[in-house]
Amino acid sequence: MTTPFAPMPDAQGYFGPYGGQLVPPFLKQAMDDIGKAYAEITQRADFQQELRELQTDYVGRPSPIFHARRLSQQLGGAQIHLKREDLNHTGAHKINHCLGEALLARFMNKTKVIAETGAGQHGVALATACALVGIPCEIHMGQVDIEKEHPNVTKMRILGATLVPVTRGAATLKEAVDNAFEEYLKDPTNYFYAIGSVVGPHPFPMMVRDFQSIVGREAREQFLGKHGKLPDYAAACVGGGSNAMGLFTAFLEDESVKLVGVEPAGEGTDKPGRHAATLTMGKPGEIHGMKCYVLEDAPGVPAAVHSIASGLDYPGIGPQHSYLKDIGRVQYEVADDKETLDAYMRLSRVEGIVPALESAHAVAWAMRVAPGLGKEVNILVNLSGRGDKDADYVAHKLGL
Ligand SMILES: *Cc1c(COP(=O)(O)O)cnc(C)c1O
Repeated sequence: MTTPFAPMPDAQGYFGPYGGQLVPPFLKQAMDDIGKAYAEITQRADFQQELRELQTDYVGRPSPIFHARRLSQQLGGAQIHLKREDLNHTGAHKINHCLGEALLARFMNKTKVIAETGAGQHGVALATACALVGIPCEIHMGQVDIEKEHPNVTKMRILGATLVPVTRGAATLKEAVDNAFEEYLKDPTNYFYAIGSVVGPHPFPMMVRDFQSIVGREAREQFLGKHGKLPDYAAACVGGGSNAMGLFTAFLEDESVKLVGVEPAGEGTDKPGRHAATLTMGKPGEIHGMKCYVLEDAPGVPAAVHSIASGLDYPGIGPQHSYLKDIGRVQYEVADDKETLDAYMRLSRVEGIVPALESAHAVAWAMRVAPGLGKEVNILVNLSGRGDKDADYVAHKLGL
């Protein structure tokens, strides 16, 4: 039986009209080599066994699903359930694909793993995975983010990673991506670029999705086992889109499950440069080696973006999300900085769970819609990470 989703992507890395490899020929060769190695190595029993063992014994999988009873009761409508990716070692979903990528790099005999990081979560997760696997790790990070995410910066250094501060432009995630990419181009044969989300040229959107898809596979089985049915909604915040694809992939064929991606509206989608709602406000274009929705000032000129969550401020979006939006399988909504802060505080005080500001976007959406839904309706939210890293920033912002 054929479905709209399998096989996704096609051999050229396209999800409908999105994705592909918009890179120069020598780089296309490097990407194809990674794709080929990925296909071969991930089929090997020794790779699969090592990855499975590390997911269990090192990351602490499976992560539980927690029924936020008090929050649901207060809201007076739908039941909110949280997939606790915040409980993973290093505190976010990112360790899932970092472990996969670092292990793949080692199996490919690479000499250095390079990456960009926004909130610092990808950098910490990758530095962790590289320490574990035994490969030198170089992290590029915007100066603005370095100042905002100090604890993560310190952690990366402790873990032995080399930190490269990026001061050009807005000095956030987008510039860090450009800088890391330039370093990678110096020796694509020996370096491995570990992209931090389901973005970039093929095969990265596919690889990162596959390594993340354990989130949805677990969640589907856990929810079915506990409730005897699937959730009515599965929701996740969307930056590049990896935690959302990780959750959504297992549910794509389940028509009864409404999938909701929540983008950052920042200070308002009516304020250009002050949000990062790529699918909601952008249009099809190109960025970082792929076709996808983009926010841009002119063709090829990415717009400035903002979100209270630095892990979400990216002017592009994964190609599969772009496709899922067009075919209507996933509904994309927004949450702004203010309601995200409210959700951060509310979840902390009502359930004793401090969410990452990124994840709080998805919680904010659930809190907004729950009161209008029946008590028998179940919303599963991917709590992509924990919010310790944001605590000082939030306390300062709220005068706590
Ligand atoms: C990086 C990050 C995100 C955003 O990345 P996606 O690829 O969209 O998942 C979301 N939540 C947390 C906790 C993060 O660290």
